[in-house]
Amino acid sequence: MIRFRFFGTVQGVGFRPTVYRVAKELGLVGYVQNRSGYVEVAVEGKRAEAFEQALLKALPPLAKIERIEKEQLPSQNFTTFSIIQSQTGEGRTQLLPDMSVCDECLKDLFDPTNRRYHYPLINCTNCGPRYTIIKDLPYDRKNTTMAPFEMCKECRAEYEDPTSRFYHAQPIGCNECGPKVHYEEFEGFAAIEAAARAIATGKIVAIKGVGGFHLVCDATREEAVGKLRSRKGRARKPFAVMFKSLEAIREYGRVSETEAALITSQERPIVILKAKRELADVAPGIDRLGVFLPYSPIYYLLFSLIDTPLVVTSANISDTPIIKDEATLQRLGLHDGMLWYEREIERSCDDSVVTVADGKPLFYRLSRGFGPKSYYFEGVPSILAVGARQKNTIAIAAHDHIVLSPHIGDIKNIESLEYFQKVVEDFRRIYAFEPETIVCDKHPGYETAHYAKSLGKEVVQLQHHRAHVWAALAELELEHGVRWSEWVGFAWDGTGYGDDGKIWGGEVFVGDERRYHFDYFKICGGEKAIKDIRLQGWSLARAYGIKLGDRLFNIAYEKNINCFKTSSLGRLFDAVAFVAGLCERVDFDGEAGMLMERAYRGWDVGYYGFLIDEKIQIDFEALFKDDKALIPSRFINTLAAIILKIAQKEQKPVILTGGVFQNVTLLNLATTLLKKEGVPCFFPTATPINDGGIALGQVWWATLKRR
Ligand SMILES: [Zn+2]
Ligand SMILES: [Zn+2]
Ligand SMILES: [Zn+2]
Repeated sequence: MIRFRFFGTVQGVGFRPTVYRVAKELGLVGYVQNRSGYVEVAVEGKRAEAFEQALLKALPPLAKIERIEKEQLPSQNFTTFSIIQSQTGEGRTQLLPDMSVCDECLKDLFDPTNRRYHYPLINCTNCGPRYTIIKDLPYDRKNTTMAPFEMCKECRAEYEDPTSRFYHAQPIGCNECGPKVHYEEFEGFAAIEAAARAIATGKIVAIKGVGGFHLVCDATREEAVGKLRSRKGRARKPFAVMFKSLEAIREYGRVSETEAALITSQERPIVILKAKRELADVAPGIDRLGVFLPYSPIYYLLFSLIDTPLVVTSANISDTPIIKDEATLQRLGLHDGMLWYEREIERSCDDSVVTVADGKPLFYRLSRGFGPKSYYFEGVPSILAVGARQKNTIAIAAHDHIVLSPHIGDIKNIESLEYFQKVVEDFRRIYAFEPETIVCDKHPGYETAHYAKSLGKEVVQLQHHRAHVWAALAELELEHGVRWSEWVGFAWDGTGYGDDGKIWGGEVFVGDERRYHFDYFKICGGEKAIKDIRLQGWSLARAYGIKLGDRLFNIAYEKNINCFKTSSLGRLFDAVAFVAGLCERVDFDGEAGMLMERAYRGWDVGYYGFLIDEKIQIDFEALFKDDKALIPSRFINTLAAIILKIAQKEQKPVILTGGVFQNVTLLNLATTLLKKEGVPCFFPTATPINDGGIALGQVWWATLKRR
């Protein structure tokens, strides 16, 4: 007898029926059983040696094996192969992401002879929701929001049949027994038809997605998009657009092979592309477009009735979490009609957002489909990392795993703080762990740091930009299996609290030492300056003896009223965008950078002079005198030239990380220059490069320190 223990994503993904089928095909006897944290398999028979290879070839799409233990044991004279029910519960299985509907389910969905024809919540073991419906582990129907729906006889039979793709598919259901979909007085497919009619007449329809409600309207109708902007209080921030097919996307955006692969992947993220053609006020002034394909059966049903692209944006207002329940949505009244279904969403989960740089994915938001992101790492201490304030995520180290949560959001209001606390509490309960250490940011004002301190455990702080670098190192090792012993880490960013109490954001670390940083400059205007970027531009000008701005500003600047000092490159981007005449106010984080990208003309236009000692200084006097049209290109080129210069000086592999590197133009340019020089270079491609990665950096740093 050979006994295997399979570790990894092996429970709740159709692994046991696959084992069962492969064993049967090879004529083997024995058993398969879910154990706490792994699956145990015993096989006996002439072809037992062929089992492992055959299984690995036949793995179900969502299974991922991290480790296999194999042992020869004396025969137990089994007579058949069986799936043994677990006695101890299924223990510490992983919390898996929600997956888009699979091809087989789609076939059933549109097959009039199938009993799940037009069943709007169809899913099987290979697809469907997980993270958003699980209340507790083990992953069992009674522990999901499907618990109130009793399976009909036919569903029950499939659920118990190891040869069916619905075997132990916890959210199984059908037109007979599953949750119903509604729109006003309509039910079932008639509800979808009613929603399609409403969209066609320019209405804004709230649609219950997998992780929360979306607000949806026809993306080609100027007045509908305008109405949505005013209701959401969102002046210029781009909306994501859902298209019927990849072909439809190609009419509006340029799609590379990597982008096409991401768009059609089972995770179904929003992918930011170079736009070919403008859509009604969807992304004003910006040459990029966020696109995605339908991912849940409801959206497929809708697109069987509609051809036009749809704006699909999270239902929420001003940085609160995506709304997941009907009552809250009704209270806010952002919609004209509501397409909803009866299954509850246990915890919300936004859409993932990704773009491509240097031919690789670049995550702006890791969420539905990708998160929780779980890595096997043996012998971790119990740690909770609470992340930063913006684009918050949390991470844990527990039971031989490091897990990064999906996107939680900006912790700026009571709603998002409550949601953050729920995710922390859910992770502690579901993963059954008590943190020994809690890691938080150094910023004394962060709500996440206050929360960390309120838990009564050992709290350690990690400076924000160090955490960015550690996040990249974490991905390098956990995802790519590489550990560097030395590095130059460029952590270029918006805002982070520095060791010296100043606002950092243009940092270069050699190992753990902050060896270089952009020269501090004084910004006058406090919090207001973040949106009103004239204040940043005027401040930068004043630092070089140029008097711009109104009288009040100049008095405040001279008297040091409402001023702060920063080395932040995000702020420099804003200031330079204003000086280049691109805009005066930004509506959303990163807008200035995007406008700079649009104005970019190439490496050939040259760059400004700079000095590098401990401080990095750019020749801003030249910038202020320059032709405005050339400023964006020359500024971006200068930054890339600085990266190259420091890399040559230090002769170590390079890490590029932090929110500033969401700028694809800069990232592409920097990686190209470094490659030419033969300098190894890494940036995160599987976890967020922005503050969404901070928690991963925190947990990784503390894990290595404790081990
Ligand atoms: Zn399926
Ligand atoms: Zn049923
Ligand atoms: Zn940051």
